Formats: sequence, structure tokens, C-alpha cells
Amino acid sequence: MKSFPPYRVQVVKAIPITTREEREEALARAGYNMFDLPANMVTIDLLTDSGTGAVSAAQEAGAAAADRSYAGSDSWFRFKSALEDLTSFPHLFPVHQGRAAERILFSTALKPGQISLSNTHFDTTRANVELAGAEARDLPCPEAADLDSRDPFKGNIDLGALEETLSGPDGSRVGQVLITITNNGGGGQPVSMANLKAVRALCDRFGVPFFLDAARFAENSWLIIQRENGYVGKTPKEVAQETFALADGFVASLKKDAISPMGAAIGVRDEQLAKQCEAILIATEGFRTYGGLGGHDLERVAQGLQEVVDPDYLRNRAEETAHFARLINEAGVDIVQPAGVHGLYLNAGRLLQHMPPHGFPGHALACELYLAGGIRCAELGSLYLGTFDDEHNLISPAPFELVRLAIPRRTYTLAHLEYVADVLASIAKNPESVPEYRVTHAPQLLRHFNLKLRQVPRTVS
Ligand SMILES: *Cc1c(COP(=O)(O)O)cnc(C)c1O
Repeated sequence: MKSFPPYRVQVVKAIPITTREEREEALARAGYNMFDLPANMVTIDLLTDSGTGAVSAAQEAGAAAADRSYAGSDSWFRFKSALEDLTSFPHLFPVHQGRAAERILFSTALKPGQISLSNTHFDTTRANVELAGAEARDLPCPEAADLDSRDPFKGNIDLGALEETLSGPDGSRVGQVLITITNNGGGGQPVSMANLKAVRALCDRFGVPFFLDAARFAENSWLIIQRENGYVGKTPKEVAQETFALADGFVASLKKDAISPMGAAIGVRDEQLAKQCEAILIATEGFRTYGGLGGHDLERVAQGLQEVVDPDYLRNRAEETAHFARLINEAGVDIVQPAGVHGLYLNAGRLLQHMPPHGFPGHALACELYLAGGIRCAELGSLYLGTFDDEHNLISPAPFELVRLAIPRRTYTLAHLEYVADVLASIAKNPESVPEYRVTHAPQLLRHFNLKLRQVPRTVS
């Protein structure tokens, strides 16, 4: 039997409908940077699943009744107890969003010159490791390099490489192992419980702390139930509890799997580490019982954390993503296999085979989706991961040219996703007509947020 969303729509928001001419002008004015497009020029926004989920009536009821006391508010106790229920961490801190959690934990846990090892560091995560003076090193499993392979856990860390690094000449410099669930920088692929347990054992053996970047803990739990031996019949909550129990600490953006517009959390077991985090929290975010969040967001998180582990919700969300993946394949576009939950990653390099990496096929496809259909999404290719010289010429391309279509939670219907697949199909019919792009401005840190580009005019043949 087909699943259906375990909710109905109660409040709606109109979306902008634009003409191609208006979009051409808007994109040119934005310097062909998706992050500089005004949202009122975007029809379907698949830029991110962060803070873009639809909130529930129960979340808004909590928000309306929120307690805004500076210290010890009711809303804080609800936030804390929802997190305790899932994570059992003795020290929990609220912060305004995930990157603040990263900054506070890493500036405390990492020393300059140390190394952070990960399945893949997310972009702000990498930036905060580097701001702490440490090196962010990714060790994705070898299966991740084959975009077409249907290996169930391509988000895993490469255990062999992890052990080799920990026991090798750099071993003494490793300050943390950080596992991102699901692996957002790595195609949104899940990490298996077996992999997490093996990481725990290696961290014990080498005396290194094991942290989780747990933005999508519920979706990772769902995929473990679907794909890993021994988890059939477990609830997402039980799997999430088992996951968190393995770690020494976590950071989590609660704009993802807590379905909240804002919020994040830090959890640690070590009391000393907790004291240091708390001092930075109070100095830079807010008091330990609100951490830069209003009572309304503490409430939305507390309620969202309960809604997100509902198996009916997770089943329907995963099935919608899988359905979207089939439509895209039928449109003639390959994605990173197998489909995860929070987004699909298009293989733009394969679709735009004619285009050299320095024309930025991923970005070109993202721009075309906007120009043709008002759909906003982001490149994960050479623009994001390549290296450039001082004149903004691409020196070394990324291994893959991908485009991420992130799927906001509870926000779009299947008809919206079918429309996106239709637009993709129209592009896939004539990929040679998609123009190349050149970088005209690029900052050093977090380059892709602040890029400017120009379109290379197509020569008529
Ligand atoms: C979104 C995200 C972050 C950063 O969280 P923000 O709330 O956007 O600051 C960190 N890690 C991962 C894996 C994420 O997806």
C-alpha cells in the first residue's frame, strides 16, 4: 500500500510565478549566484532543507504559549527533555544554529595543529574546524566514489583509512573523529550502525573523542531500519537513541530534523568540556537555558523532535524522495544512487558531458533549472570543491559535478516535484544548449556563498 503524509495542510503560502524574461534578469542581477537571488523570484526553492520545513499546528501552539524567561524557562525544560529523551547526554546546550554549535565545540575540543577526521565535513563544519586552527580531513568510504553503485551505506567513513591515520605518523595529532549523519556533503547517504560502532571502538583504542554531526539523525535512523540487518521492527526513536549512545558528544542543526525554522544543540558527556562550552556559550550566544533562541523556537524544536521520529512521517518522506528519484531517472537524468531522504544529487557532469569542468556543468544545470522553471538549487561540483588561481581560473576540478535538489520537510506536494522533473526532462532533451559560466569574483572562505559569475554567450552555429 502507498504511504501518505500523516498530516493535512492547514495554512498555505502563495509561491511566486514568474516569466523566463524576469528570471533571466533576476539571475543576471544576482551575478549568477543562487544565494543572491531574492526569494520572491523563486517558484520552487530546493536550495536547502534547512529551516524551510512546514511547522505543525502543535509547534505553533507551543510557540504561542512560549515562556521567554531569561533563566530556567518552561520552554527550555521542554527543549531539554525532548533532547534527553533521544540522546541521554548529561550536558545539553541550546544555540541559535548548527554553525554556532560547531564553533563552540570545536574551539574547545580542538587545538591548533590538530586534525579532525570525518566521513565528510559539511561546509560550515570544515570552516569552523579551520577557524579553530585545525585541519579537516575527509575519509569517505571507497563505495562513495561510484555514484551509480547502490551500496546501502555510502555515507560510511573508510574504517581502514581511519585506523591507518590513527595508528600512523599523524595519529597523535588527531583531535576528534566527527561523523556526519546523514552524510550531507557525500550525496546525503546514510551511515550504518556497524560503521558507527566500529568508529567507537577505534576511538576507544586510540583515545580520541567521537562526535556526531547529527542534523539528520532521524533520516539516518530510518535508513538503518530499511537497509541494515537486525533493525527491522525497531522504531526510529530506538535507533536514534542507540546512535547517540555511541558518541562522546554531538552538534546538531535543529533546522533540519527538528523541523524548526531556527535552532541547534550541543551535547557532551565530559564535564570539563561542558564547562568550557558553557563559558563560550554564555559569552557569545546567550545564557545556557536559551542560547540565542527565543522561547518560541525552543518550543518548536521540542515538539518537532517528537514529530520527526514518527515512522509514518519518515516512511512517507522517504517514499516521496524515492518517487522523485524515479521521475528524474525517467526524465533521462542520473542521480547519486541510491536515493537518500533529504535531497537528490543530480549527476550534471554526465548530463552535460560536452561541457568542460571550467564551464561548471553543475552550476550551469542549476542556472538552467532556474531559467527554465524558476527552480532554485545549488551546485556541488568544481565551483564548490575545485581549486582556483588568483584570476579565478579553475586549476583542479572536483571529482564530480553534482547539483543538489534539497527537499524541504512537509513543504511541497508530489505535484511540485513532478513539475521539477518535467523541467529537468525539457533540459535533458537538449543539453547542448546549456551555456557555460566563468567566475568573475571569488572570496577565499566559503567561496560558493559569495561568488559572482558570468554566462558565456552561446555561439550560434
Ligand atoms: C546544516 C548543517 C550544518 C550547519 O547548520 P546550520 O544550522 O545551517 O548552521 C552542519 N552540518 C550539517 C551536516 C548540516 O546539514
